[in-house]
Amino acid sequence: MNLPAIAKQTYDQLKEQASFSKITDFVVHHLKKIASPLERARFVHHVVDDYNRSVFSHPLVKQYSPCKAGCAGCCHTQVSITEDEAHLLASLVENGLKIDHARLQKQMKAGNDSAEFYKLSYADRKCVFLGSDNLCQAYNDRPSVCRTNAVLGEASQCSTEKGLNENQQLRLIKTSEADMAIMGSFMASKSNGALALMLGKILQSSSKNKAKKKSFSNNAEL
Ligand code: SF4
Repeated sequence: MNLPAIAKQTYDQLKEQASFSKITDFVVHHLKKIASPLERARFVHHVVDDYNRSVFSHPLVKQYSPCKAGCAGCCHTQVSITEDEAHLLASLVENGLKIDHARLQKQMKAGNDSAEFYKLSYADRKCVFLGSDNLCQAYNDRPSVCRTNAVLGEASQCSTEKGLNENQQLRLIKTSEADMAIMGSFMASKSNGALALMLGKILQSSSKNKAKKKSFSNNAEL
């Protein structure tokens, strides 16, 4: 399982506390009741946003956090997503959202290996959903990991332009509750992994299915 590191750290610290573990259990159990992967992803995003709302809307956070529209420091990193989130992102592409498929292929080659991912140039590490205006084109349906982990401080602290600085101390302002919910979504997911790999696999399999259907209907017309 390719788990989001920060949420997993929170989970490992708090899983023995009933008030936190019940959040993970609630998400796992509720996801079993929803059939559509798109709706499952949206349910988790709703829960994560709900837990983070009061913190992210605090006036001091608004004043001192650089996490605002146009700042995309964290959008050149490898983001872990669930299969449901991959289906949700793939649905945007299949409905006409334009992405750079050549860049997606390069990122897919790194698989789930962050060391391989950081061998790519900064430009090639740019998330395929990040627009030329540095705005997320998938903002309303962005993954859970992108919805949390905001920081206090300078935007430059998040930049990986010169490579990943594992010693960089970031002051995160997400909530533990949101992390516990995110872990529930990963535990309930059939598969998960790096955004590019998960998205690319779904887009490839859906284009193969379309090609099969086309060839079947062409043969039926003969
Ligand atoms: S999905 Fe959006 S917010 Fe998340 S990394 Fe990509 S561009 Fe950034």
